[in-house]
Amino acid sequence: MSTVSVTCPLCEATCGLSVTLDGSRITSVRGDDQDVFSKGFICPKGASLKALHEDPDRLRQPLVKRDGVFEAVSWDEAFAEIDRRLPPLRAEHGKQAVAVYIGNPGAHNLATLLYGRLLYKALGTRNIFTAGSVDQIPKHFSSGYLFGDPLTIPIPDVDRTDYLLLLGANPLVSNGSLMTAPDMRGRLKAIRSRGGRVVVVDPRRTATADAADDHLAIRPGTDALLLAAMVQVLFDEDLVRLRHLADVVSAVDEVRDLVTPFTPEAVAPAVGIAADEIRRVARELAGADRAAVYGRIGTTTQSFGTLASWLVDVLNVLTGNLDREGGAMFPLAPAGQTNVQSGRRRGFMHGRWRSRVRNLPEVMGELPVATLADEIMTPGDDQVRALFTVGGNPCLSTPNSARLDAAFEQLDFMVSMDVYLNETTRHADVILPGPLPLERSHFDLLFYQLSVRNVANWTPPALDCDLPQEWQTMLRLVGIVNGQGPDADVAALDDAVAHAQARRAGLDPALAGERTGPARLVDLMLRAGPYDLTLADLEAAPHGIDLGALQPRLPGVLATASGLIELAPPAITADVPRLLAELDRDADQLVLIGRRQLSSNNSWMHNLAPLVRGSNRCTAQMHPDDARRLGLVDGQAAVVRSRTGQVSLAVEITDSIRPGVVSIPHGWGHGMPGTRGSVSEAHAGVNSNLLADELLVDEPSGTAVLNGIPIEVCAAG
Ligand code: SF4
Repeated sequence: MSTVSVTCPLCEATCGLSVTLDGSRITSVRGDDQDVFSKGFICPKGASLKALHEDPDRLRQPLVKRDGVFEAVSWDEAFAEIDRRLPPLRAEHGKQAVAVYIGNPGAHNLATLLYGRLLYKALGTRNIFTAGSVDQIPKHFSSGYLFGDPLTIPIPDVDRTDYLLLLGANPLVSNGSLMTAPDMRGRLKAIRSRGGRVVVVDPRRTATADAADDHLAIRPGTDALLLAAMVQVLFDEDLVRLRHLADVVSAVDEVRDLVTPFTPEAVAPAVGIAADEIRRVARELAGADRAAVYGRIGTTTQSFGTLASWLVDVLNVLTGNLDREGGAMFPLAPAGQTNVQSGRRRGFMHGRWRSRVRNLPEVMGELPVATLADEIMTPGDDQVRALFTVGGNPCLSTPNSARLDAAFEQLDFMVSMDVYLNETTRHADVILPGPLPLERSHFDLLFYQLSVRNVANWTPPALDCDLPQEWQTMLRLVGIVNGQGPDADVAALDDAVAHAQARRAGLDPALAGERTGPARLVDLMLRAGPYDLTLADLEAAPHGIDLGALQPRLPGVLATASGLIELAPPAITADVPRLLAELDRDADQLVLIGRRQLSSNNSWMHNLAPLVRGSNRCTAQMHPDDARRLGLVDGQAAVVRSRTGQVSLAVEITDSIRPGVVSIPHGWGHGMPGTRGSVSEAHAGVNSNLLADELLVDEPSGTAVLNGIPIEVCAAG
């Protein structure tokens, strides 16, 4: 028996886990009490890693589709098939004919993060799509224009704040997102224990709202109106206190002018919160010693995602809480984000290119997935004819997924890197499986730059794996795309990658010794990072290294062209007139929102029995008043319809949701023909994204609206 310490790569919380092994068999998975950050915290998903590794439906061999049927093949055969079909397609139709979709697991996978970009660059396509455009792109957009870099995102300093205002976020269930913070229940409890206050704004009384001091049940999609009114109150009541920010922020007066029409009285009917309540919260925020405002998925996946994301940080600035202990601060990651070190101020730009069919803008080098089906289905030059997917399940997780499902049928060629034959990969011609979490090395390249405390932790593979590592698979694909064929020298390509990285950082690649793959790249990144660390330091500290509480980083962290926080960037404020028109919105329209669940990880862990046991979770939650009006009783089957489709599922009547709002969790709708998921098929649920309308997007960023979709509901049958 042996015990290894690993970082859980399943979500953004980055918990340390203690995994006990009997040879190659996992006997237990527990929270690691000695982990410097999570201190023993674990959630049901982390505890299910054993079930994941033992899942008989997991793919262990590449699959190639021949005459419509998947056959298990050798790796050489799989790469030969790709080499046979991909280069001629690119030669005939051009680079833009190949698109890429990168799913959420890609953000948690060191190998695909580091080596995927080589493949995407080699492909030379602008048709890059990720799960970000059904999630968080508005926050990156806003941060890019405010601070100069889309990854420079202020994170609430939850461990030192006295007042935390959370909008559209349920971290007790999500375990934090765009905020790496294991054990948020403990952290919120600590705020209240030290006399602080937690306020939640959400259409549902979520688990987080239940654990808070105050809950404001907002109408979905109106957070930007609420936030604009709070900003208006700060100006109107002379509560603006820039404090240490006075010399680093521009355009404060422009913001004052922009929010003038958004008085609490003006927004209250649309927002569904009384004007007095809006004033009270604005005053509380301004009066708190140390306060932070934080918005998450409810604020980013709605019609005004960019404005809401911007206004969150406008409040942090105007209350003088940005970059201040207990406020909203900028983490300093041990490796990864480079804007600090480069010292170059270039500012941020979006819309450097646009999607072919709907003219939607690129943001951070990617196009909105809400238009991927258009790019495949609309004939013309640069029509997408081939697709790579890297993790993810867009046939369940993106808007109007029935249309995307139909679009995938039209592709000439599709390659998926995935461990499951799921609703998306069933369309592939070649599936390339990879190692599972405990079979690969891990380092949270992205999430340490979103962390409420500066930490670093390296996880070596705990289990052997007879599959190639994904970085090797990626490099073989790069070889095919570059014309070197399916047998390209992976070691030589890896050397070239490491040497290029070392050169950019001004380092000698030999410093990384005999290391290869992600370990070598992370070692070089740590050496170039701000903490004088090497990978050997992390290897010697299996429970992680605590690099301390967040520290003030202004003005050095800014990468705007002016070197200031540009508080009223035109790319964002141009959308204010559209928000003004929302004051007249129809407040009686029934609307749909999503619902996060502790034992769900979007769609991909529904094949694990420990995570789906118990009563049916895929229900339509509805307020008793709405149920009465519609003649529905608890448990009854109802049909929910939108412009794009309909689903039939059981109603769950609860007063925890605001009247006029229906909530269905996403990620369900399993059991399609051609998939392989014995557990998920038995717990299929319905796909809420059949109802999400691909034409509804946040206009500045093109991010899909998943919260606030107009619907109708009636009894089934
Ligand atoms: S909270 Fe996230 S990181 Fe922690 S155990 Fe659960 S899934 Fe893993």
